[in-house]
Amino acid sequence: MNLADSEIVGSILTKSGYALTRDIDAADYILINTCAIRDNAEQRIRKRLRELRALQRQRQWVKVGILGCMAERLKQQLLEEEDNVSFIVGPDAYRKLPDMLAHVHDGEKMAETLLSDVETYADIDPVRYDTNGISAYISIMRGCQNYCAYCVVPYTRGKERSRDPESIVREAQELFDKGFREVTLLGQNVNSYRWEAESGKQEAESGKRKAESGDVEAESGERKAESGEGSVGSVGFPELMERVAEVSPLLRVRFATSHPKDLSDELLQVMARHDNICKCIHLPVQSGSERILKLMNRRYTPEWYLNRIEAIRHYLPDCSITTDVIAGFCTETEEDHQATLEMFRKVRYDYAYMFKFSMRPNTYAAKHLQDDVPDDVKTRRLEEIIALQGAIALENNQKEIGKVYEVLIEGVSHRSDQQLFGRNSQNKVIVFDRGTLQPGQYARIRVTKCTSATLIGEVAE
Ligand code: SAH
Ligand code: SF4
Repeated sequence: MNLADSEIVGSILTKSGYALTRDIDAADYILINTCAIRDNAEQRIRKRLRELRALQRQRQWVKVGILGCMAERLKQQLLEEEDNVSFIVGPDAYRKLPDMLAHVHDGEKMAETLLSDVETYADIDPVRYDTNGISAYISIMRGCQNYCAYCVVPYTRGKERSRDPESIVREAQELFDKGFREVTLLGQNVNSYRWEAESGKQEAESGKRKAESGDVEAESGERKAESGEGSVGSVGFPELMERVAEVSPLLRVRFATSHPKDLSDELLQVMARHDNICKCIHLPVQSGSERILKLMNRRYTPEWYLNRIEAIRHYLPDCSITTDVIAGFCTETEEDHQATLEMFRKVRYDYAYMFKFSMRPNTYAAKHLQDDVPDDVKTRRLEEIIALQGAIALENNQKEIGKVYEVLIEGVSHRSDQQLFGRNSQNKVIVFDRGTLQPGQYARIRVTKCTSATLIGEVAE
């Protein structure tokens, strides 16, 4: 998401006459886009700021700015704590940057951290830098109001709002015309994407309504009642996916992230209908314990989650499933932890992002709960999850041996320039001998070997 935002910032600034450089020694302004999700993300930024001091001593005109969630979270305080920072800009204020830089140039310190209910940067054509020319991100919604008890995002990214579908489809078409072959639609909870055309504004309400209701069953009924999704003037996520998939059968479409409570059968049916919608669903579970999920305010139970996994397997038998999990949330017992391991054994994820719980200021957890699982216990539980997941991923990959996949070639392998790598629809990386193939092409590859992270293959025909 930050990469996508940096591309928007790049576009805003280049339009105002600034030029991008990858060479830090050539830069007059250094903009650091930041994450606040866990404390260690912020500590890395603090470290980077200390490292920049030497450069700023030598080139005293160089100004450093902090963008994104850490700027939003700390606001003015960050300017006070880090005296080599000249400006801070929250995620909804990037249009102000050109103006701000003019002031900063004259020696002023600036902070813009107002959150917006409507900003989606829909009209801004992102500058694609740091790109392979094949895959690109398209931000389709911003913000989140699910208020999971551990999470800082609702406070740093503001209310949920969806972007005009026309502008999304246009961006996908333009990328395809430029030679891109894969787009990933991005949002904190893409399933609650909803655009209301008549009023010309997006519906941020749906998420809020759901946030107010605590009952999973009631929500599901509500979702179904709401899903007059084909109705005139209103576009929901399944319909948006369909429109983007129809740009071209040669354009792969991915999306992240779906909240389990909102993963509808309708979306799975749309995915089944379109070969170019990739068969990979990221469905963050966070915990396998019913009690912890409740305390986290995730608004689903393990049973509900497993029911969604069954639905995925039913409609999309070859779909890969990935997840996020947190070890050591407040009050987590050994039994809760075992329930998480059990969830991993049941679902058999293809990949997982696994984190130690990090208490974030201002969240529900910070205000009402205690960070009472000792760090060494968190570490041990995390290691157990990582070990289990590593074994499962290896077994899953071993089952791929002998299968043939259509692979979108992304580039030359880091290990050997005689090899290429790409991904299958399930988002698994496959490395194979290059032959006469080129990045950007599709190739049919037979899997011959694997590790827990990578498949190795050969051209099938
Ligand atoms: N909107 C996405 C998640 C965005 S944050 C979703 O709800 O699925 C990405 C991941 O970071 C989360 O899924 C969670 O696993 C992790 N995370 C968020 N806050 C955290 C915290 N305080 N400590 C540890 N991990 C956290
Ligand atoms: Fe954070 Fe929950 Fe929103 Fe994801 S859904 S961004 S975890 S509050």
